[in-house]
Amino acid sequence: MRVRFAPSPTGALHIGGARTALFNWLLARHEGGELLLRIEDTDRERSTVENVEQILDALRWLEIDWDVGPILQTARSQRHGEALQALLDAGHAYRSGATADDVKAFKLLHGANRGFRGAEEPDGAVRLHVPNEGATVVHDVIRGETTFENVHLDDPVIARADGSVLYNFAVAIDDLDAGITHVVRGEDHLSNTPKQLLVLEAARAVGLDRSGGRPPSPLPIYAHLPLLHGPDGKKLSKRHGAASVQELRDAGYLPAAVRNYLALLGWGAGDDATVLSTDELIERFTLERVSRNPARFDETKLKWLNGLYIRNLPLSELTQRLEEFTGRTGLEQAARISQEKIHTLADFLPLAGPLLDGPAEDPKARERWLGDDGRAALAEARGALEQAPTFDEGSLEQALGAVIERRGAKPREVYQPLRVALTGTTISPGIFESLVLLGREEALRRIDGALAARS
Ligand code: GLU
Repeated sequence: MRVRFAPSPTGALHIGGARTALFNWLLARHEGGELLLRIEDTDRERSTVENVEQILDALRWLEIDWDVGPILQTARSQRHGEALQALLDAGHAYRSGATADDVKAFKLLHGANRGFRGAEEPDGAVRLHVPNEGATVVHDVIRGETTFENVHLDDPVIARADGSVLYNFAVAIDDLDAGITHVVRGEDHLSNTPKQLLVLEAARAVGLDRSGGRPPSPLPIYAHLPLLHGPDGKKLSKRHGAASVQELRDAGYLPAAVRNYLALLGWGAGDDATVLSTDELIERFTLERVSRNPARFDETKLKWLNGLYIRNLPLSELTQRLEEFTGRTGLEQAARISQEKIHTLADFLPLAGPLLDGPAEDPKARERWLGDDGRAALAEARGALEQAPTFDEGSLEQALGAVIERRGAKPREVYQPLRVALTGTTISPGIFESLVLLGREEALRRIDGALAARS
């Protein structure tokens, strides 16, 4: 088996493209086959070096590797020209000056269902000669069989008058030469498939599949992946949240969680399992279990899944990821006490930042928790913290528990003023863990600062 991922580098790698890459990769790894990466850079204006780099970068971040390539489509233009000439020479393609208006006129005369056939003209664009009889059958693993009667198909233009080939021709020849056995791609390419099949058939008829002494190859098997929708059921777009792999990375998702989530967009393990390691995905992935119904990308689900992956990371790895993400060092302690509370790497600094960098400015929190009662509770808590025999979670819990009891207070009537004193806000990792992280001296210093500030 040899599959390919063939992005057009016209911008960032979006979630749909990433899903296509992942499905191809999972399939190749499941089958012990190969994944080829082809960069379809024929749109010269939009296919910049930066865009290509951006896509490779996104794949590397996702930890999706490839076995062959990257092959640039533009680097193959000579081969495309030769293939085109072979079809022209054998009468499978012809030059035609027909314009869009000519096609329209033809349809008016013969009915919209009759495929357009052009007249030969030496200097025109190149059209593929579609046989009048027979049918072009797309066997799609996901969608079943679709038959296109050839008589309904127009002779497609496959090259401009200057000999430069068009997209569907290049793709077909590239797939042929690369020995692609399975074409797995987005549903938006479904309508290209009969054209590509016609090119492939013509190419095989003139022996192009045996170029360089290769054995003849069968036509590829196709699988068109279902569309992606947002949670509102509309076609996935920017307004549904992160749309590109880079944005997912910057939003603090882990590649393994993203792979897990993307795998579920149109595929299911068959037993409702949602948490699947990459090894499990590879083991269980088959095209037969890809659905034909649109799949929903829902960032809240991804976030939930990511939180689960974060909680399951060894602390050393979480620390490393957080340090890479924030560009800071020495985060192990803060990572440890935040691990249960964050869903993304980006959640970390807003949560633990005030512990590391000093209290945040949150006047509402001060107002709410550091009024007269709060300050009285805080002062008493300060005393207890100063006196605690050791400054570990157990003894702090005991010391503060005694304060709560003495005051006949609810726990939060002591803990919230303390939390606001330590972090400036009401959201932080656990209070005892936060105290230990700060250490006695710093904790008392912050409490004194809070008590000294007039609320
Ligand atoms: N280059 C196409 C795209 O980015 C994919 C072509 C294909 O997979 O056949 O959508």
